[in-house]
Amino acid sequence: MFHQARHDERTVFELSSPGRRGLKVPAAWGKCPDVPENLRRDDPPELPEMSVREVVRHYVVLSQMNYGVDSGIYPLGSCTMKFNPKLGEAMAASDHVMSHHPHEAPTFVQGNLAIMHELAAMLACISGTDVVTLQPAAGAHAEFLGAKIIDAFHRGNGDERDEMLVPDTAHGTNPASSAMAGFKVVEIPSGPDGQVDIDALRAAVGSRTAGLMLTNPNTLGIYEERIGAIAGIVHDAGGLLYYDGANLNALIGQATPGDMGFDIVHFNLHKTFSTPHGGGGPGAGAIGVKSFLKEYLPAPLVVQSGDEYALSYDIPKSVGRVRQHHGNFAVMVRAYAYLLSLGSEIGDVSYRAVVNSNYLMTLLKDEFEVPFITKTPHRMHEFVVSCEKIRGDTGVTALDIARRLLDYGVHAPTVYFPQVVKEALMIEPTETEEPEMLEAFADILIRVKQECYDDPDMVKGAPYNTARRKLDLYKATKTPVISWMMRER
Ligand SMILES: *Cc1c(COP(=O)(O)O)cnc(C)c1O
Repeated sequence: MFHQARHDERTVFELSSPGRRGLKVPAAWGKCPDVPENLRRDDPPELPEMSVREVVRHYVVLSQMNYGVDSGIYPLGSCTMKFNPKLGEAMAASDHVMSHHPHEAPTFVQGNLAIMHELAAMLACISGTDVVTLQPAAGAHAEFLGAKIIDAFHRGNGDERDEMLVPDTAHGTNPASSAMAGFKVVEIPSGPDGQVDIDALRAAVGSRTAGLMLTNPNTLGIYEERIGAIAGIVHDAGGLLYYDGANLNALIGQATPGDMGFDIVHFNLHKTFSTPHGGGGPGAGAIGVKSFLKEYLPAPLVVQSGDEYALSYDIPKSVGRVRQHHGNFAVMVRAYAYLLSLGSEIGDVSYRAVVNSNYLMTLLKDEFEVPFITKTPHRMHEFVVSCEKIRGDTGVTALDIARRLLDYGVHAPTVYFPQVVKEALMIEPTETEEPEMLEAFADILIRVKQECYDDPDMVKGAPYNTARRKLDLYKATKTPVISWMMRER
């Protein structure tokens, strides 16, 4: 059931052995008759010299050192590391959609445009918005675009508004992208129930309020029950509501942000909609807007007339393009395949995600402190526990606990986020784990907690069973080893 970490593996350069070959090159190739003398190398390139078997084993070992959603549970809160159906990979790799160049004329890529158009329509339906652009490449990128749209909207009305309201539970990208778009960030505190403090919000809004960026459920996994009132307060003050929809896994198919009063919604296609992520790989942060904001979207949009799809650049007030070509198309194909394969059962995703998160929390709540649980007993797709008491009793930190979990062959939760919880472990099991896995994961966490009390120094020295032992984080940032040649042996 659990991932077995492999021992350290040397690089291909270190494994190289002079004269060893995987491929016999025909002698004629070595002659290079057509390469002019002055362009030829003086010395042969320093390529690793290995047999085919060595190369195959090397890469298999590397793949086994890696940990991913295909290896085991990956409960990294706020990241939605769900299992990604292999169907999506097959579709994204298909020649039918991939053997095209983004500069091809629309008449030659009608199928690709149809995928984009239909995906945008499905996302509009899921979010309760009217028009969707697929251009942004990530959630943070989408937030930046959303903030620019909010800015353009107010300027268009001759309205000077420079403040973006952001709750203290927000994902770090929310204040960052608002600030990058030129806004002053005004932090709104949470109340004792872990939800936006309505009085504080009322006191903060005014004629300078451009908008509110909100994640619902928030990063504590708590649903903002007063979202109707929140939307009313911001709209009455003339502001717009931006929904950080990285968390759509909590309510997809069950509720729509558009109905809650949001004017702009983003989707992390790489989280909720099944593109593998986490290695910084390509994502997509599509954005949906209510129709009154349509004229600010980036161009082009895919439009349909009759059976024909075309690219429309006729968006006069557009805030401008944020991504070349059409965005990360392969991510869109996976999202499209995912939505089509689930169809009307899409609501099961969020239903199970929420059930799994509450089940796991129930297994842990007698052993770990769950902040705000007395006022707000249930969680949505994720929950946050605090290791503050464990730290006080034993000196072991949340980070030490996270490292110790690796020894048991599971991935650690997110740590130290959200910042409103001290020594936080933020746990998001996702809908794709079975109950047995959740029970096993809870057992491991409880066992590690016991170890903190029995042998705190052992926990602080973890991990022991991984390819790399405990890293010195400060040394890693101050004197980074960026080449195998710099490695201490
Ligand atoms: C992941 C996440 C983001 C940022 O998305 P990126 O694609 O990583 O830029 C924003 N908000 C929340 C709540 C998230 O979980």
